[in-house]
Amino acid sequence: MPSAFVFVVPAGVSLVLALLTAAAYHQARRGYLAVWAAAWAVAVLYYLALIGAVMAGDPAGDVFGMLGPAGTTLGWARAVVFWLGARWLVGKPPSRRLVALLLLGTLLWLGCVLGLLEGQGLAAPVTRMGEATWFLAAAAVLLLGGPRSMVGLLAGTMLLLLGLQGFLASWLVMDLTGTIASGWVSSALALAVGLSVLGRLLEEEREVANARSRELAAANARLAELDRLKSDFVSMVSHELRTPLGLIKGYVGTLLRRDATLDDATRLEFLQVVDEETDSLTELVTNLLDMSRIEAGTLRVDCQPTPLGPLLEDCAARLRAREPARRLDVALPPALPLVLADERRIAQVVENLLTNAVRYSPDAAPIAVRARVVNGSVEVAVADQGPGLTPEQRAQVFEKFFRIDQSDSRRFGGAGLGLAICRGIVEAHRGRIWVENGAGGGSVFAFTLPVQREEP
Ligand code: ADP
Repeated sequence: MPSAFVFVVPAGVSLVLALLTAAAYHQARRGYLAVWAAAWAVAVLYYLALIGAVMAGDPAGDVFGMLGPAGTTLGWARAVVFWLGARWLVGKPPSRRLVALLLLGTLLWLGCVLGLLEGQGLAAPVTRMGEATWFLAAAAVLLLGGPRSMVGLLAGTMLLLLGLQGFLASWLVMDLTGTIASGWVSSALALAVGLSVLGRLLEEEREVANARSRELAAANARLAELDRLKSDFVSMVSHELRTPLGLIKGYVGTLLRRDATLDDATRLEFLQVVDEETDSLTELVTNLLDMSRIEAGTLRVDCQPTPLGPLLEDCAARLRAREPARRLDVALPPALPLVLADERRIAQVVENLLTNAVRYSPDAAPIAVRARVVNGSVEVAVADQGPGLTPEQRAQVFEKFFRIDQSDSRRFGGAGLGLAICRGIVEAHRGRIWVENGAGGGSVFAFTLPVQREEP
């Protein structure tokens, strides 16, 4: 009975693919491999059913006409599982609802094919067309629905050809040679689909390797950046310590010289310099401690309902006392709600912003302090008429040790810690701090603090 041999090759190919895919699943435990192993196993059963049907029936007749319920069900199941496999392959496994719908559809379809069409000669083409439609649907999933990948493209094209071949075969009345040729073509296509599915594993391995090397490169860059920060830190701290220490040493040395004949006014002036430089050393050490607390997440803020108006007026008064020539405008709405704030820390933020505004803008340029209520927060803004910041500088200005002028000869000392500390303090209050360019030039540094909610 020669025509039974027509199905030996496809059965063999499906068996090999089932075993290979099952072995790959055993190794890699990917869901799509399990589904495809099942698909090839169903295909093996399907071809065995065909062989059985041919051997039991009239070899001259159309084997699809003699399929019987088992062969028809297995053929349909094979095509549906191919479609499921395609969905799994692109990472879109079907929902339970879809699986239930598929089962229902399968029952209806089998009812139609087995009941209505049996004996009408239509069963064969309708069965083939039904299966071919699923192959085309699987091809569509891979070619249109999934992410772009070689495997998707290859397997999708092969399934497309398999579907087209199925349609073609359902229209042709084939003799034995035609059936053999068709069986060989579909075996070759099935083999290509199966190997592409296995190729997905290679693709995944490559993706994992790429992701790993990207992670390594990022970790490397982070380490290099940390290293740079550490060197910056050491050179900044030594520079910031050396300048005041040098001055203190120089002035104290002169004061201590026995042969120095200094009048009282000069002595006082020297002692004032020593006093100021000691203050700046203390400030540096305090800032370093604050920064390390912020970074360790241990900065404590004692938030209490606080009226911001008096706090801002106090900061402004202190600045006016230090800089009597500078114009400072404070514009506050009449009734600002209480905010939740640690008064000492928020005063530190405002004074830092005011000091920067004075430092980095021309002597005659006015400074403005404004406050307003926005979305359950109070927003405080300090605007100056200085040079403003470029977008790159705005993005970095709250980073620690960031200074626009890095030169040793810069006009103002400063470790580039002030704004980083401001950000740490504001964020510890669950607020936000940012900088934008002012409408008429200069910078506007603004931050928000949450309004204290009324107790019900
Ligand atoms: P420091 O002032 O101690 O250097 P900051 O963190 O307070 O550190 O500021 C970081 C840098 O941001 C400053 O060195 C300065 O270059 C820039 N900067 C801060 N405030 C202003 C401002 N109002 N206008 C222009 N540049 C500013």
